[in-house]
Amino acid sequence: MHFDRDFRMAIGSALAPGAGTMAVIDPATATPFAEAPEASPADLDRAISAARAAFPGWAATPYAERAASIAALADAVERHADDFAPLLTREQGKPLAEARREVMGLATWLRAAAGMALPVTVHEDIPARYCETRHVPIGVVAAIAPWNYPLLLAAFKLGPALVTGNCVVLKPSPFTPLTSLKLGELAQSILPPGVLNVVSGGDALGPWLTAHPGIDKIAFTGSTATGKRVMASAADTLKRITLELGGNDPAIVMHDIDPAMLAPALFWAAFGNAGQVCLATKRLYVHAAVYDEVRDALVAYAAGVTMGSGIAPGTQIGPINNRVQHDRLIALIEDCRTHGYRFACGGEVPDGPGYFLAPTIIDNPPESARIVQDEQFGPILPMMSFTDYDDAVHRANSGPYGLGASIWAGDPDAAWALGQRIASGNVWVNESRPLSPLVPFAGHGHSGFGVENGIEGLLEYTLPRTSSICRTRTFGL
Ligand code: NAD
Repeated sequence: MHFDRDFRMAIGSALAPGAGTMAVIDPATATPFAEAPEASPADLDRAISAARAAFPGWAATPYAERAASIAALADAVERHADDFAPLLTREQGKPLAEARREVMGLATWLRAAAGMALPVTVHEDIPARYCETRHVPIGVVAAIAPWNYPLLLAAFKLGPALVTGNCVVLKPSPFTPLTSLKLGELAQSILPPGVLNVVSGGDALGPWLTAHPGIDKIAFTGSTATGKRVMASAADTLKRITLELGGNDPAIVMHDIDPAMLAPALFWAAFGNAGQVCLATKRLYVHAAVYDEVRDALVAYAAGVTMGSGIAPGTQIGPINNRVQHDRLIALIEDCRTHGYRFACGGEVPDGPGYFLAPTIIDNPPESARIVQDEQFGPILPMMSFTDYDDAVHRANSGPYGLGASIWAGDPDAAWALGQRIASGNVWVNESRPLSPLVPFAGHGHSGFGVENGIEGLLEYTLPRTSSICRTRTFGL
């Protein structure tokens, strides 16, 4: 199979066109380049019914067989990496090499889930009595993904949900539906009908999905504001939920760092994927002893980075994914200008088509600035100086989020000790975002609810079932 330009939804055993269509915009040109199906409530009903019909058979399929199917899907994704990657670049904007890494990440995450096993806990095993807890599938899972990593963040959900015996209805963002639709199409020849359904649509589709009584669990990645709506919508039918939400990750640079050595890693921690990463460095706190040198090294590094269309060879930073987000970021830049904050670099919106924004560093704005307090989710980095580590920790821990944090230092032990004082689900020393399908990833506070990845992430797609048997003729008395 080579990808064609015909995008259909995977619903049961069919590839369905949907009631309407919606344009998909290439963010590098700001023009439509493809059309995706727009699901109606009836389309969604059919997808959920197909998943419900498939559930008993899939749940009863031996674990090893399910795992083999998911590993086969991973192999198919890898074989089609050269088809997926340019499509991902066109709809998302990221450079082709990064798109390819994301596609390979999808395969890696699926394969890792296929290799995981559910624990069985035996509580008692004596002649008179046996008692154990196993983990059974929940039912039909709604997997909802954002537009920054459409395939990877779908993979966080699909592998664990499917291998544990659930059926899935995957809903990509309206900005990036195409690669997910192709994934659904690919899965049609590998998984039994109805096990993985993919529906695309406009802004109404998410709320229809989360309120639908045919859904048993919602696995959601997106903004905190939407996450709260998802949680409220799940309450009525007591759906299980996993929420991976926004963040405002701090990085702390200690006094003994080598600024020139640090600059490339720190730059990409903040500006990778044009800053559209939940775990991007979004606030940078630098010890006053090295502040000027770190700023100047970052600015010098930024000057050598190539921004452009993700398809063009050599591009390191692509466009912002969509108009709404581009406008939001421009408003944040205007706010910095209005308040008279210094721009160490960037700040201009390039002329011409596409949603581009040059890497921008705001030099020592006050802690109360919007660019410090809000999640920017784009290539604008505020950097602030500090002299006292207690103060740095206090500022890093302020705000409602608690997703990730990094500490950068010459003395890794001192950095480790400082990191342990940061209130977030992930803390890294001298590295950024070392994600693995085998390592649990969770947000604290307003950054999330529940866990993805690792055994903890696998268990989120199951319900515990405790069974016991009395082996004597006394019926437990
Ligand atoms: P978003 O919340 O606008 O949308 C996410 C998904 O939810 C999309 O598929 C969207 O169509 C759907 N949706 C929108 N409204 C809905 C509703 N009422 N009910 C159900 N679904 C609905 O987020 P976004 O703009 O696509 O992504 C950016 C945000 O995602 C940022 O805040 C970022 O930090 C966060 N994010 C978090 C993680 C993480 O793992 N914690 C990872 C990536 C992105």
